[in-house]
Amino acid sequence: MKERYPRLEINLAHLKHNVAKVVEKCGSYGIQVAGVIKGATGLVEVAKQFDEGGAAFIASSRLEQIEDAKNAGIEKPMMLIRIPMLSEVEDVIRLADISLNSELEVIKALNEEAKKQGKLHKVILMADMGDLREGFWDKEEMADVCEYIENKLINIQLVGIGTNVGCYGSISPTVETLNELVEIAEHIEARLGRELEYISGGATSSLMRVWDGNIPKRINLLRIGEGILLARDLDVFYGYDMSELYQDVFRLKAEVIEVKDKPSHPVGTIAVDAFGHTPVYVDRGIRRRALLGVGKVDYGDPAELLPMEKGIEVLGASSDHTIIDIQDAEKDWKVGDVMEFDICYATIVYLTNCRNVNIVFV
Ligand SMILES: *Cc1c(COP(=O)(O)O)cnc(C)c1O
Repeated sequence: MKERYPRLEINLAHLKHNVAKVVEKCGSYGIQVAGVIKGATGLVEVAKQFDEGGAAFIASSRLEQIEDAKNAGIEKPMMLIRIPMLSEVEDVIRLADISLNSELEVIKALNEEAKKQGKLHKVILMADMGDLREGFWDKEEMADVCEYIENKLINIQLVGIGTNVGCYGSISPTVETLNELVEIAEHIEARLGRELEYISGGATSSLMRVWDGNIPKRINLLRIGEGILLARDLDVFYGYDMSELYQDVFRLKAEVIEVKDKPSHPVGTIAVDAFGHTPVYVDRGIRRRALLGVGKVDYGDPAELLPMEKGIEVLGASSDHTIIDIQDAEKDWKVGDVMEFDICYATIVYLTNCRNVNIVFV
C-alpha cells in the first residue's frame, strides 16, 4: 500500500515509557499522576499508553475525548480538567468521575444532575495563585464554597483543591506558590474538620519541583500532558535534564511537491499574505527551495516545525503549503522525497485534529 502524506508517526512504546517514568518519579514523592490526553486530541491509542503506563486518572479538557477513552475500554477514573460548561453538565456526570471546578452555580447543577443519574461526582476546587486563568481568586469565598458542598450537596464529594500555573500568566510553580496552595488547603481542612484527599499542584511545569526534589510534601496529584507526550518544554525553556524520557514520540513526515531555484525576496508590489499579514522577507539572492504538501491548516504555526536534517530552514507557509530553504542542505532534495520534523505541543494538537493527516502508530 502506498504511504499517504502528511503523516504523523506516534511511537507508542516510547510514549508508554515516558508515562511509566513520570509516574515512577512522581510516585517516589507520593504523587499520583493524572495523564492529560488532550495534547494528542485524546487518540485512544495514546490514552491507552497513559492507562498502561500507570496514570491514576485519564484527564482531558474535552468530554468527547473522555467518552472515546471509556468506549475504548479504559477503566481508570476519568477527570475533566476544564471548568464544566453549564450546557455540558449532563455529560460531565455521565462521563467524568471527577472534575475541576470554580463556580458554585455549576457545582449545584452538577449536584442536581448527579442526583438524577444516581451518582456521586467528585470535585477538586481550583485556586487561582496568580496565573489568572481558572480558579477562585478570593480564597475565603473558596472556603465558603467548600463548606457549602460539604454540608449541603449530597451528590457532590469535595475531594481536594488544586491550581493551574504557567498557562496564561506564565507564573512559575515555585516552592513558595505551592506552599501557599498547601496553606489554603489546610485552612479549608480546618474549616471542614477533616483532611482533603488531594492537593493538585499543577501541570508539567510543576514537574520541575519533582525533578529538583523540593515539591511540598502535601502536594499529591499532578496533571501531566506535555511532560509525557513531548518532554521538551522543561528541557528547552528551563534547562532540565529530561534524558530519561523520549523526546521523539511524535514525528511529522511531509512530501516534497516542488523543488526550484527562486529569488528569496518576493517579486512585485508587496501587499499582504494569505492571512492578511505583511511579513518581512530577507533578500538572500536566488536560493534552492522545496515546497511541501502540508500547511498551516494541518499544523498551525510553521515556526514550530523543527527539521531533522541540518541545513534546512522553514521559511513560511500558507494554508496548504510549506516553503523550505534547502540551499545549504546536505541532501539533494527531489520531488517525492519525504522531509521529517520534530514538532512542538501545539503542532501535535493541530496534527491530531486534522483529517488530512495520516496518523500512524510505530
Ligand atoms: C492542559 C492542562 C493540564 C496539562 O498541562 P501540561 O502542561 O500539558 O502538562 C493540566 N491541568 C489543566 C487544568 C489543564 O488545562
